Amino acid sequence: MITRRTLSIPELGPDGLDIPYFDIRGRGDGPLLTVLSGVHGAEYASIAAVREFVRDLDVDTVSGRIIAVPVANVPAFWARTPFVVPADGKNLNRHFPGDPDGTFTEVLAHHLFTSFMAGADYVVDLHAGDVPEALEPFTIFEESPVESASLDLAVAYGAGHIVRQAAVARTVAGSSCAAAADAGIPAIIAESGQNGLLDRAAIDRHVAGLGNIARSVGVLDGDPWPAREAQRHEGWHWLRTDRAGWWQPAVTTGESVPAGGLLGTMSDVWGEVFAEVRAPEAGTPLFLTTSPAVSADGLLLGLARSGS
Ligand SMILES: [Zn+2]
Repeated sequence: MITRRTLSIPELGPDGLDIPYFDIRGRGDGPLLTVLSGVHGAEYASIAAVREFVRDLDVDTVSGRIIAVPVANVPAFWARTPFVVPADGKNLNRHFPGDPDGTFTEVLAHHLFTSFMAGADYVVDLHAGDVPEALEPFTIFEESPVESASLDLAVAYGAGHIVRQAAVARTVAGSSCAAAADAGIPAIIAESGQNGLLDRAAIDRHVAGLGNIARSVGVLDGDPWPAREAQRHEGWHWLRTDRAGWWQPAVTTGESVPAGGLLGTMSDVWGEVFAEVRAPEAGTPLFLTTSPAVSADGLLLGLARSGS
């Protein structure tokens, strides 16, 4: 049975905040798979994928339970805000497992974590390149005692690139999959789509990957597809600019870049180049800021390490 439910958080905003979600229960026993999307409210390909996955689901093929949250960050969705929660300007995917006594984003993260993630057997958090971001499809999992189960989720999703993040080398803290890993729950972040676009192929990749994960963990009937070939990366470099300026990338996502290779340049408003951004080691850009306007300490790209 598919039930449409709402998580109500009365303390957020003047009228409280409601987060709609699907609660899908199969006839037989099985695991609880939680699927989040819209943690970043303008990554529409991931939100569309959850809507379509549930729309096309045959509930008679479900064993166990699937919780599917199409828009976790409701305020950002309606405000069309990339990356952050409008109320406090914080990135929701840096604040899991949240804080019930914190700011808007921290309270929201707390409720999402306790209501949807803490009791799950598996967590899959769907993302995409945000409005100013190009992106090559990839999955991320975290070093943890349950990392082999997390890797299985990443392999089942089927993207061409898989990034493992060691606990000591997390590029960011407080992501959904890091908080889940810390709680002993196998989890991945899956990224497909770019620039906030409703790209058909990007949505289809998310829907197919999610379905294959659901079959591989036994919450959906049917055999998963054979493992696909993927390039494995041990961590990455997130490159930033100290100084605000015009970012001109010299690479595209998914290409192999040698150590020292030019990734792009920063120039001032007059067009004078003041910095060349080069690869600290060999790797593959998996996401890339496509907007030339980058402020001081702004993110330019994520270079996944080749691991060679
Ligand atoms: Zn995202």
